[in-house]
Amino acid sequence: MKLLAYADRAVELVNTDDRGAGLDRLQSCDDVCRLMPQGWNVSRTAAEAGLDELREARPRLRRVFELAATGRVERATDALNKLLCDFPVSATISDHLTGDWHLHLTDEPKGPARSYVTGAAFGLAYTIAERGPERLGLCEALPCRKVFVDTTTNSSRRYCSDRCATRANVAAYRARKRGDVQTTR
Ligand SMILES: [Zn+2]
Ligand SMILES: [Zn+2]
Repeated sequence: MKLLAYADRAVELVNTDDRGAGLDRLQSCDDVCRLMPQGWNVSRTAAEAGLDELREARPRLRRVFELAATGRVERATDALNKLLCDFPVSATISDHLTGDWHLHLTDEPKGPARSYVTGAAFGLAYTIAERGPERLGLCEALPCRKVFVDTTTNSSRRYCSDRCATRANVAAYRARKRGDVQTTR
């Protein structure tokens, strides 16, 4: 797994709190299982035990996105450092017998939810270190408040999805049109 890809875990966890739609998609054991990466075998007990941990980490991760996306980099990294302190990473090196050596985060003995959050926090830290804090984004198409990691070459992404981009463009077009009508009157 590419280390930058761990940041996707943070995005997915934070976006289970879908404020634009007024939905919380992290309320049950099934929700936990849906969130966990493919191939993870999560028992009912582990999912139950992990629900609270995930729900507690979620606003902390969102805060990092919000602070970074609004240019408050120092506060973003302070908040992230607290997360890294609470969810310390351990790593192993592996080549899966191919000679292509790379790092993996080690699964946490405290369960899949803990492993998930550890990876999420690490992914944000790695993204900031490798690509810069401006890569953490917050969708500008209100009321959507989804977060994303901007992977465009020129850091130009403003929306979480094509759907939100279209919605924002339509709204801007209508606003312009209204403006035109007012000025010609
Ligand atoms: Zn690997
Ligand atoms: Zn959006």
